[in-house]
Amino acid sequence: MRVIELKKIRKAMEKSLDSKRYEHTLGVEYTAAALAMRYGASIQDAQLAGLLHDCAKCLSDEKRLSICEKHNISISEYERRNPSLLHAKVGSFLAMEEYEITDSDVIHAILNHTTGRPGMSLLEKIIFVADYIEPGRDKAANLSEIRQMAFVDLDNALLRILRDTLKYLESTGEETDPMTRRTYDYYCELKEKESENGK
Ligand code: FE
Ligand code: FE
Repeated sequence: MRVIELKKIRKAMEKSLDSKRYEHTLGVEYTAAALAMRYGASIQDAQLAGLLHDCAKCLSDEKRLSICEKHNISISEYERRNPSLLHAKVGSFLAMEEYEITDSDVIHAILNHTTGRPGMSLLEKIIFVADYIEPGRDKAANLSEIRQMAFVDLDNALLRILRDTLKYLESTGEETDPMTRRTYDYYCELKEKESENGK
C-alpha cells in the first residue's frame, strides 16, 4: 500500500516541480531513506517526507500567499517579506489537503525543513539534514565533511549545518529567519549540557 502511495506521489512531484527541483526531491528522498536506515527511523516515512518537503516550492509567491490567506495560515513579517520561505508551511498544508498525509511527524518534517525548531523529532532531523547533503547539492562549504558526519552523529551534523547556514547568511547580508537562530541556540545549549553531564 505505502509503496503504491510513494509511486503516486513521485509522479505527482514530477508534474508539479521543475526538473531541477524534482531531481533534488529524489535526492532528498533516498538520502532520507539511508539516514532512516542508519538511525532506525521509519524508512517509508522518511521517503514520504523527503518526496513532499518541497512540494510547494514551484508555486508563485502570489499563489503561496493566497493559499495562506485563504486557509488562515499565519504569515510572519519575515515570511511576508520573503514569501519563498512559505514553501515549508504551504507544503505541509498541501501534504495534508492534497496528498492526504495524516502522520503528524511527516507533516512536521515538511513544516520545519528550512529552519528546524528546538526539540526536533528524529524524522525532522533526518529531513533537515538530507535536504542539505543530498548528492545534487554542490554549493555549501564543507559538504563532504558534513555528509560523512551525518552518518556518524546526526546531531553534530545538524548543529554544523545550522552554524554554516547562519554564517553564510551573515556573510551575504541576507535576512535570517529568527527560527534558524533559535534552533541553533537550542542545540548548542543542549550539547553543552550533555558534555557537562559527561555524556
Ligand atoms: Fe525547501
Ligand atoms: Fe529542499
